[in-house]
Amino acid sequence: MRHPSFRPLLILIAFICLVSLPTSSLVSAQDDPQAPLVVDIQYTDLDDLAFFAAKFDVWEVDRKLNTIKAMITQADYQQLIAAGYHIEIDLPNTTLVNAPLKSLPGQRSGISGYPCYRTVEETYAAAESIAASYPELATWSSIGESWEKETPGGAEGYDLMVLKLTNSAIAGDKPKIFIMSALHARELATAELNARFAEYLASNYGIDADVTWLLDYHEIHLLLHANPDGRKHAEGGSYWRKNTNDTYCVSNSNYRGADLNRNFPFHWDSGYSSILECDETYRGPNPLSEPESISISDYVIAQFLDQRGDDDNDPAPDDATGIFIDLHSFGDLVLWPYGFDNTSTAPEPNNTQLQTLGRKLAFFNDYSPEQANFGYSPASGATDDFAYGTLGIAAYTFELGTFFFQDCPTFTDTILPDNLNALIYAAKVARTPYMTPSGPDALDLAVSPYPVAFNPQFTLSATIDDQKYQNSNGFEPTQVITAAEYSIDQPLWEAGVTSFPLLPIDGVFDEKEEAVSASVNTLGLSPGQHILFVHGQDASGNWGAVSAIFFRVDYAVYFPLVMH
Ligand SMILES: [Zn+2]
Repeated sequence: MRHPSFRPLLILIAFICLVSLPTSSLVSAQDDPQAPLVVDIQYTDLDDLAFFAAKFDVWEVDRKLNTIKAMITQADYQQLIAAGYHIEIDLPNTTLVNAPLKSLPGQRSGISGYPCYRTVEETYAAAESIAASYPELATWSSIGESWEKETPGGAEGYDLMVLKLTNSAIAGDKPKIFIMSALHARELATAELNARFAEYLASNYGIDADVTWLLDYHEIHLLLHANPDGRKHAEGGSYWRKNTNDTYCVSNSNYRGADLNRNFPFHWDSGYSSILECDETYRGPNPLSEPESISISDYVIAQFLDQRGDDDNDPAPDDATGIFIDLHSFGDLVLWPYGFDNTSTAPEPNNTQLQTLGRKLAFFNDYSPEQANFGYSPASGATDDFAYGTLGIAAYTFELGTFFFQDCPTFTDTILPDNLNALIYAAKVARTPYMTPSGPDALDLAVSPYPVAFNPQFTLSATIDDQKYQNSNGFEPTQVITAAEYSIDQPLWEAGVTSFPLLPIDGVFDEKEEAVSASVNTLGLSPGQHILFVHGQDASGNWGAVSAIFFRVDYAVYFPLVMH
C-alpha cells in the first residue's frame, strides 16, 4: 500500500464509465477501449513518483516540472482523474502509438516505415551469415526458447540466440563482455545496434588493429533478441514491452505478459515493479518465472565467475573481470547499479568504479551517466542489478536515443556511430573494468613512414589523454600523464612482455594530454603485418585502455638496402 490515496479508488472506479476522449484525432483510441493513451501526470512528491514508476509504463520523468510521461490504459486514466491527479493527454504521442505502421514506397525489408531496423527473422539471418562467413570468429547458438516456443499448442515462437565472437585459433581464458538487446520488445534501435556491432567486428578483423586484438583476446557474447515473441508484436506497430505469456492478464490480451526487466532475482519485487498482471511493469509471479529470463540468467551465470560476496555491501575486487550491457530505449542515458530502490548504492569502491566507467562510456555516446535510480526512477528485478549483484561484474543499461520507434536518420547518423564507439571502449576494458577506465586513453596512433620498407626504423606517435569523460553529472578527477609504452605483437597485459617507452614530444610529462612518440626498430621481425600495442599512465598510477595499430615489414624491398 505504497499510495493510500490511490488504491482504495480502484474499487470505486469500476462504477465510473469511460468519458469520451477530448479530440477527434484520437479516433482509434476512442474506438478501441484497449488502446493506450500517452499522458503527462503531475506527481506531488518522491513517494508519488516511486509509486507511478513502479506501476506505470513511464517514458520520462521531469523532476523540475514534477511530471511523468507514461503510456497508460483508459481505465488507468479514469482512475487517476477520479483520484484527483492533474493529467494531460499527449495528443501527438497518443496518435503515434495508435497509428498503424506503413511501409515506405519501395520498401522491401525491415520494419514497415523503419527500413533501418531488421525484423527478428532478418536479424537472425544476418547473424547466421556472420557465423557462416567467419567460422573461425563467430558461432551462433541457441541459449533457450521464448515463451511461445516453449509453450505447446500455441504460436511457433523463437529460440533465444547468442552470437559469440572470438578468434577461436587463440585458446585460453579470455575476458568476456555480454551485450543483450530488445528485452523490451518495442525498443527497436537496440537489436539493430547490437547486430551492427557484430557486423563491424567480424568485417574489420585483420583490417582494424583494435578490432583484431579485441577478438583475439576477448569473447564478445551478443544476445540480439532477448524477447523475440514480443518483438513480433512491435514489428506490427504495437508498443509492446513485455513477453507474450498469456497466462497473465487473461482479461485483456493486449496487456498480457511479464515485464522481463522486472523478473530477475536480485531484489526482485523490492517495491519498484507492479504486482498487477495487466500492468506494463508486471514483475511475474516469482523471480525468473519466464523462460526468457531463465535462459538469460543461466547463460550469464555460466559465462562469468561470481566475484562478489552475497551481501549487498560486499564489493567485487579491483581486478574483477567482465562487463554486462543491456541495451534499452530511450532517454540518452548510461545507467549502473543499484537501481532496485531510491537509496541504495553499490558498495565502494565499486560504486565509484562503476561511475568512472559510466562517465567514460557516456563520453562516447554523449549520454547522461547516472546511477540507475537517479533522475529516472528505480526498478526492481532489472538485469543490470542482477549481473552486478549476483556476479560482481560491471553492469550497465544504455537507454538509447529519444524514442522507442526512433526515426532512421537519427539511428544511422547518431545512435549507431556514437554507441559503436562506446561498445568498442567497453570491450577494450572488459579485462579489468574497475581499474582501466581511470587511466588515460591512447589516441591518434600513427606510424610513419608506412609501410615500413626502406629503413628498419620508423616513428610511432600517439596522444595520451586523461580527460575523456562525460562530466554532465559530477566531475571525474583527472591527472597529468606520467608514462606511455608500447609493445610489438605481444599484448602489453601479458606477463613477461617486452615493452618500450614512448616519450613526450615537448620533452616533459606535465599535462593531462601529451603527444608522445618513439622510434621503433623492426630488425629481426618477419616480413608481413605486425601490430603495435600502446597505452599510457596517469599520475595516480592508472594505466588506461590499450589502442593498437598495424604496420607492415617488407624485407624484399629493404633487405638489399640494409645489407649494402
Ligand atoms: Zn527497456
